[in-house]
Amino acid sequence: MRQSFWVSTCAAFAVLIGLTGCDRGGDELVVYSSRNEQPIKPMFDRYTQETGQTIRFVTDDAGPLIERLAAEGKNSPADILITVDAGDLWHAAQRGLLQPIESSTLAANIPERLRDSQGRWFGLSVRARTIVHSTERVKPEELSSYEALADEKWRGRLCLRTSKSVYNQSLVAMMIAAHGEEATEKIVRGWVANLATEPFSNDTRLMEAIIAGQCDVGIVNTYYFGRLQRDRGEIPIQLYWAQLADGGVHVNISGAGVTAASDRAEEAQQFLEWLSSPEAQSLFAGSNLEYPASPAVAADPLVARWGTFRASGLNVSAAGELQADAVRLMDRAGFR
Ligand code: FE
Repeated sequence: MRQSFWVSTCAAFAVLIGLTGCDRGGDELVVYSSRNEQPIKPMFDRYTQETGQTIRFVTDDAGPLIERLAAEGKNSPADILITVDAGDLWHAAQRGLLQPIESSTLAANIPERLRDSQGRWFGLSVRARTIVHSTERVKPEELSSYEALADEKWRGRLCLRTSKSVYNQSLVAMMIAAHGEEATEKIVRGWVANLATEPFSNDTRLMEAIIAGQCDVGIVNTYYFGRLQRDRGEIPIQLYWAQLADGGVHVNISGAGVTAASDRAEEAQQFLEWLSSPEAQSLFAGSNLEYPASPAVAADPLVARWGTFRASGLNVSAAGELQADAVRLMDRAGFR
């Protein structure tokens, strides 16, 4: 009782005046995050309240954050890197910027295909990238796989986000893993031939184009669909659970790893373990309408309404391993 009073009092003061050094938790943890602060800050504040551990954020795109980590080397103040793509975490690990951690808690809470085999990064939420279609012009029976969107029947009816998006780079990388490079190139060429218009800069614009009648089908991350549903209520588009060659939906992760430079690896690990706990998992996924990485935690009620799907069984690290190949392939296929 005394201790928890002290911890929360200490945490409150730490937040108010920027103090660090509460007796439990020690110095602040520094997080480099390519996730916006807004959806995750309330959760981090909760952790500070519970443990006295203060957390400082630096937010930017993953590319610049990874370059910054590399340039700062051993002197980097960062303890944790958070990204919204498995490929980015894979790259950071490849460059020696993340340290392996062994945690039975993380191993128990996060499925193997959503984390690095060497413990350098862990998925904390799951993002499904699947087909979205007009409910006015397309019946779900007409849909099946990502591959089938290359069929001639979709000529002039497909909308895609630009190939510059890491989400599409990871999707195509996973398609190479599932279908092989030759078959994937054929599919992507088919998509390009079917485009109704130039690729979009984001998933929301793409869905607006379907609603406006500019095209009939597209591929999006489901949480963008969720936001549109939440903001507008009834909309004449619906999700369809698309299949890769292994029969599952392509999923990516938002996840994190402990930096190689961190001298507070133990505190950083405790924080990641907390992020994988049921309490944090529902907050983490619910704040942005993503799926919890932990299968023990239920999705947000709005998300649950879309029904269940089977995720591809491929390890998400293939998104990193094959990302350069995916970018070259999309370039060859004329996907801009
Ligand atoms: Fe996003």
